[in-house]
Amino acid sequence: MRCSQGEAFSKGQLQRFGNIELSPSAAVLNYGQGLFEGLKAYRKHDGNISLFRPEENGVRLRMGAERMCMPAPTVEQFVEAVKETVLANERWIPPQGKGSLYIRPLLMGSGAVLGLAPAPEYTFLIYVSPVGNYFKEGLAPLNLIVETEMHRATPGGTGGVKTIGNYAAVLQAQSAARAKGFSDVLYLDSINKKYLEEVSSCNIFVVKGNEISTPAIKGTILPGITRKSILDVARSQGFEVAECQVTVDELLEADEVFCTGTAVVVSPVGSITYLNKRVTYGSDGVGRVSQLLYSALTSLQMGLTEDKMGWIVELK
Ligand code: PMP
Repeated sequence: MRCSQGEAFSKGQLQRFGNIELSPSAAVLNYGQGLFEGLKAYRKHDGNISLFRPEENGVRLRMGAERMCMPAPTVEQFVEAVKETVLANERWIPPQGKGSLYIRPLLMGSGAVLGLAPAPEYTFLIYVSPVGNYFKEGLAPLNLIVETEMHRATPGGTGGVKTIGNYAAVLQAQSAARAKGFSDVLYLDSINKKYLEEVSSCNIFVVKGNEISTPAIKGTILPGITRKSILDVARSQGFEVAECQVTVDELLEADEVFCTGTAVVVSPVGSITYLNKRVTYGSDGVGRVSQLLYSALTSLQMGLTEDKMGWIVELK
C-alpha cells in the first residue's frame, strides 16, 4: 500500500517477495523514518490458522506512526492486509508444534527528501517467513547480561514505539554480549541506572513469591502485546501482578525471571550477570511460574484451550 503525506492508505495488492525500489534519498534510509510490527500465524490442532491479537499490532503501529510523523493504515486495513498475506502464504505455515509463520509489517517514509523532514510519500508492506524458536535454546533458560554503559532509550525519545532506529541502537551491546556467550542484553533506565527497562527485543518479568512484577510502560520500553497478555493470564491464574519500577537488586533477589515477546513467547531466564556478578535462578533455570505461563499462553495460541479472552482470530 502507498500513500502521500496527509492522505489515507487505500487497499494494497499481493505481490511476489522480492527487492523493492527506493530513492537513495528516501526518508527511511536517511532519517530512519520507519516502523515495523511483528506477529505470528499459528496452525491449530484442527489444521485451521489463527492469529493472536492482530488488532493490537495495528493499534501499536498507529501510535508509533503518530510519534514518527507518518500516516498509517487503519486497524481494520492492517488486520485485513495481515489476513490476506497469511492466507496467500498458507503453505509456509509449519505444522502445529513445529513453529509458526512470522509476519513482519513495515511502514516507511519511502518518498525522497534532502533536508530533514517527514517524507512526502509512504509505503506499507507485509512480508512473512516460517520460523522455529527464536532463541536456539528454545524453552531452555536465557543467560542475560545487564548493560551498564549503553541505553536503548531515553525519556522523551522513541523507545516506546517500534521504530527501526531503536534496533540499530542495541546492535553493539547485543553483538558484544553474544560474542561473550550471553543470549541477550538487559537494559537499565538512563537516568538512575538502576531500574530495569527491557531486553533488546522482549520485555522482562520478575517473580517473588506470588507476586509478578514488570517495569511500567513510561515511554522508554515497548508496550509488548505478549507482556500485556501475560499480565492478564497471570492475574487469572491467581498471581498478584504489578507494573512498577523494578530495581536491579530486586532482579538479583528474585525467585524467578522470565522474558516475553512474540518471538520468545515466555522464556525463562537462567542467569543474570551484573557487574561481573552472576546470579542463577533455580536448579535448572526453568522456573515453575515461567513454565506455567508459557504453557497457558501457547495452549491458547495453538487453540488447545478455550479462548475466554477473545484473543484468537481464526482465518479459516
Ligand atoms: N520489546 C522490544 C524492544 C521488542 O522489539 C519486542 C518485540 N516486538 C517486545 C518488547 C515484545 O513485544 P511483543 O510482545 O508485542 O512481541
